[in-house]
Amino acid sequence: MSLIASDKKNIWHPFTSLSDAPDPLIVESASGIYLNLKDGRKIIDAISSWWVNIHGHSHPVIAQAIAEQAKKLEHVIFAGFTHEPAIRLSENLLSIFPRNQSRIFFSDNGSTAVEVAIKMAIQYWYNQGIKDKTRIIALEGAYHGDTFGSMSVGERGAFTNAFAPYLFSVDFIDFPSEENEKNVTRDFEMNLATNQVGIFIYEPLVQGAAGMRMYSHEILERLISMAQQHNVICIADEVFTGFGRTGKLFASDHLNVNPDIIAVSKGITGGFMPLGVTSCSGKVVKAFQSSDSGKTFFHGHSYTANPLACAAANASFSLLTKPDCQENIQRISKSHLGFIQKNRNHKSIKNIRSQGTILAIELNTKEGSSYFNDIRTRIYHYFLERNILLRPLGNIFYVLPPYIITDVELKIIYSAINEFLDSLIESNRLN
Ligand code: PMP
Repeated sequence: MSLIASDKKNIWHPFTSLSDAPDPLIVESASGIYLNLKDGRKIIDAISSWWVNIHGHSHPVIAQAIAEQAKKLEHVIFAGFTHEPAIRLSENLLSIFPRNQSRIFFSDNGSTAVEVAIKMAIQYWYNQGIKDKTRIIALEGAYHGDTFGSMSVGERGAFTNAFAPYLFSVDFIDFPSEENEKNVTRDFEMNLATNQVGIFIYEPLVQGAAGMRMYSHEILERLISMAQQHNVICIADEVFTGFGRTGKLFASDHLNVNPDIIAVSKGITGGFMPLGVTSCSGKVVKAFQSSDSGKTFFHGHSYTANPLACAAANASFSLLTKPDCQENIQRISKSHLGFIQKNRNHKSIKNIRSQGTILAIELNTKEGSSYFNDIRTRIYHYFLERNILLRPLGNIFYVLPPYIITDVELKIIYSAINEFLDSLIESNRLN
């Protein structure tokens, strides 16, 4: 049986229809920003493979760190035992996380990092015997993952409809855009005034899956300050925004207030190994420091703090904190701004925006903005035919490359985008 026939017979791919999806492309190897397909094509990975690959594919430094670790200790139970890769990683992360963060809890991916964050915050109240701070506030449009807790704090819609009766109740406030800042803060204040809100969770500065929706650090800072004045635990979901994506190491670094809990994953291992991390401040830790076993945080996964994943994360950390990586992040951010400057008045564009290394283009289509806008498939194939991987969110597509991308390679992507935007005018897809 051919590889593709076997894949189609045996494998269930994520976010993919089981009846009418096109054949998946077989990737044989990858290097730098390129995916090398079995059929000989070389594709630019302009989205860092679901936003994880920050240093380029198969980076030799990370590959070697994993190989060396694999020969020494591949895994060990993480209750009652520990190991140097996890200890070093906790030191490394705490050295770059916002200064109030004081403990690291390991899990396996972004959804579990969020799940842990929510459970930690809920038990923070439980451990103190506080029973009335049961409400959770999230932002309209939020995406925090696909497990039940993380789905519950996310926007309800096509992705969650089947599970709606099983999701716990959460209050959503409007997306804090500049235009409705007043309404959002008023609504938030009214919620906070009930003194029943225990948790506020948000994706700082950019809602990724909602369509790279961006909002200002000033308004977020205001919301967090208001929440903290009402003694609410603030959870920053930095699963996507962490590790340099927004131009600073963490999106929270753009603010003058610190979250109580942070969830990270994606870029943490440079795309090599699945790993999630939830960190929390000393205030949260204190609520769990008790000899009463009922106050222990009973959460864990078999692969918690897997040494290979920790070794990959430590290697990725060493690359990320090098001056040349930080310069690359600034270079990409500047380059995106230049592209925006040149194209902001293009007829095909409804909105073009960037935050650090993230460039997002919202197309002006007859159908309006939606994940299910059918231009999505057209965009995907247009760029794939030109050997560029983009994965649009409806009529919004984005470029968020590995940080090692060169100016020449960025230009190749920008030129293809320009040709695409012009082709839309010619084919009269616009309003
Ligand atoms: N939070 C955010 C902000 C995300 O963007 C994602 C994934 N796109 C997740 C959580 C879930 O992460 P994972 O896919 O690793 O479970």
